[in-house]
Amino acid sequence: MKVIIIGGGLVGSLSAVFFGQRGHEVELYEYRQDPRNTNLSAGRSINLALSARGRTALRAVGLEKDVLDSAVPMCGRMIHDPKGNTSPIIYDPVYNNCIYSVGRKHLNEILLDASDKLPNVSLNFEKKLVGVNPATGVVTLKTKDGTVDDVTGDLIVGADGAYSTVRRDLMKADPINFSQTYIDHGYLELSIPEHNNHKMVQNHLHIWPRGQFMMIALPNQDSSWTVTLFMPLSCFQSLKASSDVLGFFATHFQDAIPLIGRDNLVNTYMSNRPSHLVSIKCSKYHSGSKLIIIGDAAHAMVPFYGQGMNAGFEDCTILDDLLHNYKYSTAEALEAFSRRRNPDAEAICDLAMYNYTEMRDLVNKKTFLFRKATDDF
Ligand code: FAD
Repeated sequence: MKVIIIGGGLVGSLSAVFFGQRGHEVELYEYRQDPRNTNLSAGRSINLALSARGRTALRAVGLEKDVLDSAVPMCGRMIHDPKGNTSPIIYDPVYNNCIYSVGRKHLNEILLDASDKLPNVSLNFEKKLVGVNPATGVVTLKTKDGTVDDVTGDLIVGADGAYSTVRRDLMKADPINFSQTYIDHGYLELSIPEHNNHKMVQNHLHIWPRGQFMMIALPNQDSSWTVTLFMPLSCFQSLKASSDVLGFFATHFQDAIPLIGRDNLVNTYMSNRPSHLVSIKCSKYHSGSKLIIIGDAAHAMVPFYGQGMNAGFEDCTILDDLLHNYKYSTAEALEAFSRRRNPDAEAICDLAMYNYTEMRDLVNKKTFLFRKATDDF
């Protein structure tokens, strides 16, 4: 079977490994440059939390160890109160299960390298999908110099992210329910430099919950930390001058100022705009026997449950299982994928939305309850 994968992000590149290892002829088309040849970290979050469902998918293609070797374990949350006091909430005190912080670029590179090693996989960068015909499996691609080419596949896998062109054309061809919700909150990434790493309690996901907004920090392999400030877009807009930013941090995140550094904080804040957060649901995910969407193209979610990539990786495992079990009768396998995946994908989108309230607010109450409980002994 000839499989065309659109999108060489995390989910598309893992999908290429799955199909490649099964011996299919795979062509992957990615609009951006090969990340292995650039220092730029494409787009969103610099690091991500990898959890059990993502690890299961990586294990299935023999890459779990490679990824975990360079990942930083996070065994719990470390809550920072407004006065700078910290208190841990361990995720799994009984079995010590943890989640892992992984670099997006590094993970993407591991997946691309693994697919590149397979002789039946070809990776094509700087080729943008401009249209797909779900009935014929013809995809139209445009290169930077404006050249337009058609290629045909037996199966087209759209892993082209939240603003998917594959989904756009799928929706033209089939009756699809679709909803897109932007939340009023955005995010901005800051950083704690390596030289301040010793001031952070290691192996935790740090959270500064403040009710209407919050900040989190995840460790990087190079000992720096990526800090993400989530808050209403109106709050971002209200902090116009450097003094506003410093005043806001002095009130709400006082202990984070020396960690991030005053100049670093002000320079990063003033030279970047907050990004929007979108949640996308759609049903179904396939058309006939030739087209399927996976990952954010099928179910983008707000990041508060740390499951967008993990759920996309799980899509790869489920699609692989179904195709194999249906003996590559793609019409049946794709139909089964839509049926099976939709309730779970929508549930995780809802959980992700809910977990913002949990992380920015309820977590405070739980810390309080936890303290009360321990005080009682
Ligand atoms: P993408 O990563 O968007 O990749 C799509 C690829 O398709 C891109 O490379 C793009 O260039 C390419 N493309 C797009 N259009 C075309 C076209 N027309 N032609 C060719 N190529 C095209 N998830 C977690 O599991 N854990 C976390 O901790 C976590 N943290 C997050 C934090 C933030 C702030 C955000 C915003 C998201 C977070 N996520 C997290 C979610 C995660 O980033 C996404 O779920 C994941 O990146 C989805 O991967 P994808 O490959 O489906 O889509």
